[in-house]
Amino acid sequence: MRAVVIPEKEVVEVTTVDDPAPGARDVVVQVAGCGICGTDLHILEGEFAPSLPLVPGHEFAGEVVAVGADVRDLAAGDRVAVDPTLNCGECRQCRLGRFNLCERWRAIGVSDPGGAAEFAVAPEANCVKLPEAVSTRDAALIEPLSCAVRGYDVLRMRLADHVLIYGSGTMGLMMLQLAKRSGAATVDMVDVNAQRLETARELGVSAVATSADELDRGRWDVVIDCTGVVAAIQDGLRRVAKAGTFLQFGVTETAAKVEIDPYRIYNEEITITGSMAVNQSYERAAELFLDGVVPPEVFISDRLPLGQYSEALDRMRRGVGRKIQVLPGE
Ligand SMILES: [Zn+2]
Ligand SMILES: [Zn+2]
Repeated sequence: MRAVVIPEKEVVEVTTVDDPAPGARDVVVQVAGCGICGTDLHILEGEFAPSLPLVPGHEFAGEVVAVGADVRDLAAGDRVAVDPTLNCGECRQCRLGRFNLCERWRAIGVSDPGGAAEFAVAPEANCVKLPEAVSTRDAALIEPLSCAVRGYDVLRMRLADHVLIYGSGTMGLMMLQLAKRSGAATVDMVDVNAQRLETARELGVSAVATSADELDRGRWDVVIDCTGVVAAIQDGLRRVAKAGTFLQFGVTETAAKVEIDPYRIYNEEITITGSMAVNQSYERAAELFLDGVVPPEVFISDRLPLGQYSEALDRMRRGVGRKIQVLPGE
């Protein structure tokens, strides 16, 4: 089959590899669409993946074309979206239900062969069946949405909270949609690139600015970083209101450092927290997706054939558009 392979840091190849075979409880998915995200850039830079070479792609959906001997509920022809998380189920974190923090955490497209290929293997247990009304390739949006849902699990937002989001890329916009769903009184958004804020407007953001200084509200109950950029994080930390929460959602470089004010954290009971990937949130993200919380025509800006994976990464790196997909069938 044709697949994207990252053989070593900063190298992308589109090449031919062996077709995958399913294990007893696995299915083989013919990938219809695979999203690109910041994590793929980190993997390319050698930062996140445990080992290379790797077939990347952790955001995908497709049609089941083969099933293992012990697969019970899926059959060839079913269309599915795939939760990429592969946790061990046995370590302390798994036993406490924190599967995303598994001591042996792996993920399809991060440590194991992913969806930037014609076919990918996934455990049956990781697949959510798609109803008729949903376009298969669009359903690749469920994975990033499930990360955002996990973020809100960590936040435990309250009705009528005021929310500030840094970064109006795909994840920032998903956070915006979920903030509205979570009953936010207002959701404001900051992005240094004014052009990127247009989509936020389209989706009904309360106010946008290229710097939080331009916004009326001085401090917010919930501040979410979706940039992974130190300057934005540093700015956001000082804008958290009393008893408020700062959520680190964007992925920084592993060695990034920011300053905090321990006195304020104490005196104003401020929470600084983070959320990593998906934990028991994929199923719910699928429900929200089916309910139209992230309209694909707004969220997916670019669709490229698999052969243009490098170009897709490049657009991602340059901050072009919103969610960029590669289509292995084209
Ligand atoms: Zn991702
Ligand atoms: Zn585990």
